[in-house]
Amino acid sequence: MSTPFDHKLAELHRAKQVAPPTALGDGIYAIGVPLAGSPLRSITVYALRTSAGLVLIDAAYEHPTCWSSLTSSLAAIGHRITDVVAVLLTHNHPDHLGLAEQIREASGATLTIHRRDDFGWQRQERGGFLDQLRTVLGQTGVPDETGAEMFEAATKVAVHRESMTADRILVDAITELTFGDVTLRAIHAPGHTYGHTVYQHPAGFVFTGDTLMPEGSTQLALAPLRHDDPVGDLLGSFATIGGLGATVACPAHQYPFLDVEERCHELAALHTAEQARARALATTHLDAWGVAPQLSWAKPWHEMGISTRRFALVHTHALLQPLP
Ligand SMILES: [Zn+2]
Ligand SMILES: [Zn+2]
Repeated sequence: MSTPFDHKLAELHRAKQVAPPTALGDGIYAIGVPLAGSPLRSITVYALRTSAGLVLIDAAYEHPTCWSSLTSSLAAIGHRITDVVAVLLTHNHPDHLGLAEQIREASGATLTIHRRDDFGWQRQERGGFLDQLRTVLGQTGVPDETGAEMFEAATKVAVHRESMTADRILVDAITELTFGDVTLRAIHAPGHTYGHTVYQHPAGFVFTGDTLMPEGSTQLALAPLRHDDPVGDLLGSFATIGGLGATVACPAHQYPFLDVEERCHELAALHTAEQARARALATTHLDAWGVAPQLSWAKPWHEMGISTRRFALVHTHALLQPLP
C-alpha cells in the first residue's frame, strides 16, 4: 500500500535530503528540520491545525539554524510561531525538545511530557542523563579509557538541557488532550526512553517519535537500574501501538508510513531475536562490551565512530537487562 505522501517522503529520505513542509491531510503537516552535524540528519516536527491554534509534536535541537528552519517552514504553510498553542513532546532527547522552551517563550504555548521523561522526576529517580550514562558505561565492561572517550563525546553531541519544566505532565497510560475541535490521545509507549509517548490523531495518524520508524531498529533506553527492562517495555509498546487501529505512522525521523500493525510485529520479532542472541552470547562473552561486536549493526563494529559505538554499546547493555 502506498499514498502520494509516503512515497515522496521516503524517496527524499533515501536520497539523504530533508523534505520541504508537506501536507499529510486532515490539517497535519510534516516539517523536516535539518540537524546540522548530526548523523540523524533531520527531525520531523509535525504541525497539527486545530480550531484552538497550532499543535506541534516535538521541537528540534536548540540551535539557531533549527529555529530559522522551523519558523520559515511554518511561514510556508501560512503560520507563525505565535500560532502555536501546545508542544507535545514524545520524549526528552535533545533533538526533540531543544527548541521547546524558545517556542513557549515566543508563543505562550504549553509543553507536555510524560512524568517518566520529566527531568525533575528523572533526576530524582534515576539521575540526570549524564549520570545515567556514566553508570551504564560502568556496567558494560568497556575499558576505562574508551568509556571516558564515549562520555566526553556524549557531552559534545548536543545541548542536553536538564532543567526544562513542562506545563502538563502525563501520568496515565492514556490521556485525552483536547485542542478546540481535535482530541488527541497521548499513549505511554516506553522502551526508547522510559517516558516515551506516542500521540494518536482521530483521523488515523499516530505520531510515533523514536519508537516506531519504517527502517532499521529502535534504539533502547539507557538502563542504569538492575530491574530495568527496556526490551520488555518496548515489546509492550509495539503491542500497544499495533493495536491502536492507526493507518499512518508518523515517526520523528525517516518518513511517515502505512501498515502500522505489521511494522510493530516486524520490530517486535527483530528485537526479540536480537535479545535472545545477545543473551546467548553473554554466557561466553561476559558483558555488553564483549557481546556488542558480535551483534549485527547497520555499520560494522570496526567502522563505527565513537558515538555510534556508544549507542550500540548502551543498546547491547539494555538487551542484557534486567541484570540477574
Ligand atoms: Zn530519541
Ligand atoms: Zn530522535
